[in-house]
Amino acid sequence: MAHIEDSFKAALYRITCPDSATLGNYFLGFLPDEAAVSIQDHLAICPLCTEEIAQLEAFLVETAVSPQPSTAERIKIWIAKRIPTGGQSRGGLGTPAFAIRGDDTGPLMYEAGDAQLSLEVQDDPEHPGRKAILGLVLGIETASVMVQLFFKEGEVGTAVSLDDLGNFTFTGLEAGKYELTLTGLDIEIQVQDLFI
Ligand SMILES: [Zn+2]
Repeated sequence: MAHIEDSFKAALYRITCPDSATLGNYFLGFLPDEAAVSIQDHLAICPLCTEEIAQLEAFLVETAVSPQPSTAERIKIWIAKRIPTGGQSRGGLGTPAFAIRGDDTGPLMYEAGDAQLSLEVQDDPEHPGRKAILGLVLGIETASVMVQLFFKEGEVGTAVSLDDLGNFTFTGLEAGKYELTLTGLDIEIQVQDLFI
């Protein structure tokens, strides 16, 4: 009985819960004060979101660059280089699994150290006039990778985590110039001057 009550409670909580991206933004201090306060209020009553924040925190502690990297290897920073995409890609990197539309431009392809990155920019069906980015990264450990997107003109950012297969999605984006950063346990990949 207690179990049933628990899962019922869980379902109830989740209806009013902010999504993971919003929680991530809250945690990183990206939200405007007003929005942050409402998340704070929600956290006070929601064990599930509190747990999610705790996981984010644990992740950041794990990935934090120590001020004295004595023996630990420094984090590798890779600047992504755009690869021209005419026809097939030599690296064998496919398009994201969910990119099934017959788009004529195709994804933007990047090489960054050992990693290959594909970014597909498209219209966001849920937000008219806005854009969405469907991304896929291969060649790195996908666990505990956070993807951050900074809108250069507005100096605002948003963050999502990478799924097990290396996929990530940003939606509701204004057109303009962005910078994308993938941060893992020992790597950071930067895509500078991303125009969408
Ligand atoms: Zn919640």
